[in-house]
Amino acid sequence: MSRDNNRVALAKHEARFERHIAKEPGGCWNWTLKLRKGYGYFTVKKGWSIRAHRASYVLHRGNIRDGLVVDHICRNRRCVNPEHLRLVSHIENVMIGESLPARNRRKTACMHGHAFTAENTYVYSKGYRGCKTCRRASVRRHRETVTPDRLSTALNTVPFDLNAEHAALPVPEKKIDPR
Ligand SMILES: [Zn+2]
Ligand SMILES: [Zn+2]
Repeated sequence: MSRDNNRVALAKHEARFERHIAKEPGGCWNWTLKLRKGYGYFTVKKGWSIRAHRASYVLHRGNIRDGLVVDHICRNRRCVNPEHLRLVSHIENVMIGESLPARNRRKTACMHGHAFTAENTYVYSKGYRGCKTCRRASVRRHRETVTPDRLSTALNTVPFDLNAEHAALPVPEKKIDPR
């Protein structure tokens, strides 16, 4: 087991580690020292620097088996709250990074090239983003497409009157195989 994964080796530096945490109202414990690619780093001593969230996991929850990766459940890389961390295999970690929500977050435009600006973006409850321009276009298409005439053509029946009382969808006649 490497020293990065070893609670005994890190515990001597725990008091200093705890001084660099800002507990946010949302629950995240943000690392207040230097960040690299969004991750906090803790210099244990000269020549020994490790990712802060990894140090936090070891200090609060124990040793990490070699080959496991500490993943942020909260998706906030600078967070060191042990409750927001979990161990995953390297493969799982790659899959999380390539998942649909992760790829969606990295995109700067929708699939039709409309930029995800504040005005043009709506957000679903799960954090997915949607393009307002495309949504408007799809609503318009929907309105234009579904008319009694077109529907009856598609269903192979006579047109019906949407405004008639008790308007009901016509039942399509079964096509009989001529053979
Ligand atoms: Zn967090
Ligand atoms: Zn769009």
